[in-house]
Amino acid sequence: MIYLDNAATTEPCAESVKACSEYFREFGNPSSLHEMGVSAANAVAAARKSIATALKADVNEIYFTSCATESNNTAIFGAAKKFGKRKKTIVTSAVEHPSVKEPLKELEKQGFNVVRIMPKDGVFYAEDFVNAVDDDTFLVTCMYCNNELGTVLPVEQIFKAVKHKNKQILTHCDIVQGFMKYPIKVKTLGADMLSMSAHKVNAFKGIGALYINSSVHIPSLIFGGGQERGFRSGTESVPLIASFGAAVDKLAPTISRRFEQVGILADLLRNEIAALPDSRINSPENGSPYIVSFSLKGYRSEILLHKLEEREIYVSSGSACSKGKKSSVLTAFGIPDEYADSTLRVSLSAENTREDILSLVSALKDAQKELLKSN
Ligand code: PLP
Repeated sequence: MIYLDNAATTEPCAESVKACSEYFREFGNPSSLHEMGVSAANAVAAARKSIATALKADVNEIYFTSCATESNNTAIFGAAKKFGKRKKTIVTSAVEHPSVKEPLKELEKQGFNVVRIMPKDGVFYAEDFVNAVDDDTFLVTCMYCNNELGTVLPVEQIFKAVKHKNKQILTHCDIVQGFMKYPIKVKTLGADMLSMSAHKVNAFKGIGALYINSSVHIPSLIFGGGQERGFRSGTESVPLIASFGAAVDKLAPTISRRFEQVGILADLLRNEIAALPDSRINSPENGSPYIVSFSLKGYRSEILLHKLEEREIYVSSGSACSKGKKSSVLTAFGIPDEYADSTLRVSLSAENTREDILSLVSALKDAQKELLKSN
């Protein structure tokens, strides 16, 4: 099996599996006052520290959620709840993940005004975000790395310039496709809120985190037993939280080594694909090496995907979340329709090898020949 769909989800590493199974057996509730509860609370605290350390944040600035979708929803609806009576405008990029895009559409239905910044020839400029911000703006939300193409947005410049124009504006970044791939630090990025997902960093599905700068108060959306310092009630999923912490501990020291390793694989893949007939590389050269999107004109994505699947090679068509629907993100990035329909997304991990890439390319060549013959 050759797994090249790491932007959709990743294989849990041995460390996260071990941490998780330990707390499946040790099943205490972190809120219990007895020994079992204390042990569970310690596991949650240790994982919180791992994530805080990786981001150079304070432990009190990390809140566990059920996934990045919840983190994004919490940041957006929380900001709207805080400011909504006085201010109505949110500025965002036109290429956000549905977990940002859809909450914003929902806010539009409630009377909020959403300004979506488009890339110009595939490139985002910080000044376009800054120019869109006015006295009515209360939130700028912009992803770090696009999940379909790997485009890295100039978040640091955007947030700094926006804050310079109006200090009161909240900044939120969905760092799901950048976390543990880039050395993201909260102060450098200038973000008030950051969303993360565990299953994209070799831990389990069903757990995410939200960073909120300690100087910012965001009202809660979930009320109950007062867990997560009263911000996000609900008994903590200790096994999943422990798995998240263990995966972050494992990945944090190897960010630059993995980046280089994956970069070599991405270059090989780009060169091999460029040599195929009717091919187009959609990902920008200066994007994340972890994501390489390309098209083979005339061959439908889904057909190619299933041809690869016959050889146990797993990739994605566009992004897993678009599930065959035409991607508005590819359109925003200016990918012509005849290429958009035949887009494949390969998303790499440091576990992939040169042989994986060569097997993929060889399978694509065979698929091109076979499909041409059957036409
Ligand atoms: N944001 C981005 C950029 C993503 O790629 C994803 C998942 O594909 C999410 C958010 C949602 O993450 P989760 O599956 O944890 O809800």
